[in-house]
Amino acid sequence: PAQVNELRRELDMHVTGPDVPKPCVSFAHFGFDDRLLETISKAGYTTPTGIQQQSVPAALSGRDMISIAKTGSGKTAAFLWPMLVHIMDQPELEKADGPIGLVLAPTRELVAQIYTEAKKFAKCYNLRVAVAYGGASKMEQFKELRAGVEILVATPGRLIDLVKMKATNLRRVTYLVLDEADRMFDLGFEPQVRSICNNIRPDRQTLLFSATFKPKVERLAREVTTDPVRITVGTIG
Ligand code: ADP
Ligand code: MG
Repeated sequence: PAQVNELRRELDMHVTGPDVPKPCVSFAHFGFDDRLLETISKAGYTTPTGIQQQSVPAALSGRDMISIAKTGSGKTAAFLWPMLVHIMDQPELEKADGPIGLVLAPTRELVAQIYTEAKKFAKCYNLRVAVAYGGASKMEQFKELRAGVEILVATPGRLIDLVKMKATNLRRVTYLVLDEADRMFDLGFEPQVRSICNNIRPDRQTLLFSATFKPKVERLAREVTTDPVRITVGTIG
């Protein structure tokens, strides 16, 4: 425990919540299989970032999580890698069904970035990743979703439209990520996010990521997570 505290101090990391797993300073200690480790290594990553060192073990333990660290600290992979493990742990994968892992992000650009990263890492398991955002053809997104996916990265509004059109459903979602939660609020997506969360099974794992954490986000975070681990790295404005 002294070592863990020392490491957290070095990383300027603050962790709250009961039974938080210890941080892992090396990719080899995450328990990933060779396929994923090789993909990470091919991406050129040698060491997990601070937020990854603590968020990945917490997410792998199945806990809900609120994870706050500045932009550029590697939060995307921190939720994607445990998502892949979560999906590969599912007993049976139906071909034509809705996503198991769902990532909500506020803008088209962010969704596109997460999608690129998700495809990079999901490839090693042949998992299907779909993307959905406004301002692009609904028909194409509809067709892709209809074929079935394991991972969906979406803006809240477009996801709601596509679910209404029955392009996909949220029945299988058991790993939900709200990325850039603050910006989701700033852009007025709170009602959509809340509505989506209310339509996903309550025993899901929910992870909320943000570069900042404002009091108004706190309320939603409390609503949509259960006994979350809270991890912050650095000083949060
Ligand atoms: P954030 O969401 O915290 O703003 P990103 O997930 O977008 O940060 O990551 C920022 C950049 O760092 C990306 O280019 C990503 O590929 C890279 N990156 C993520 N994790 C690592 C790592 N462990 N080692 C090296 N680069 C990484
Ligand atoms: Mg990010």
